[in-house]
Amino acid sequence: MIHPCQKCGACCAYFRVSFHWSETLPESFSVPIALTETISPHTLAMRGTNQPEPYCQALVGVVGENIKCDIYENRPEPCRTFLPSFEDGFQNDRCDQARLNKGLVALSLSDWV
Ligand code: SF4
Ligand code: SF4
Repeated sequence: MIHPCQKCGACCAYFRVSFHWSETLPESFSVPIALTETISPHTLAMRGTNQPEPYCQALVGVVGENIKCDIYENRPEPCRTFLPSFEDGFQNDRCDQARLNKGLVALSLSDWV
């Protein structure tokens, strides 16, 4: 089964992805600094997501078709904790919202069997 996120990427092109600057450190996730922008003294955002029509610059491929995160091993905490709907058995309204915005139907339990 292809993981639904590999055919989606909607959340990476819909929300601002912000996190503490320390996540760029080697002892944390080593988020590449060049792919971030500063939004406050202590907070960074993934470059491209702090704009009216967000689109993370680490996103490679076509949203809704074939997509991947180019820094998957080094992605920040918000990306690690954002679960697709029903992967853990629970609906994620924000996943649904992002998918609907991109013209995709929300995930259901049947997407995980
Ligand atoms: S860092 Fe990767 S997972 Fe996070 S928003 Fe960007 S493309 Fe998506
Ligand atoms: S919107 Fe949901 S299904 Fe799409 S990539 Fe994000 S978590 Fe995965």
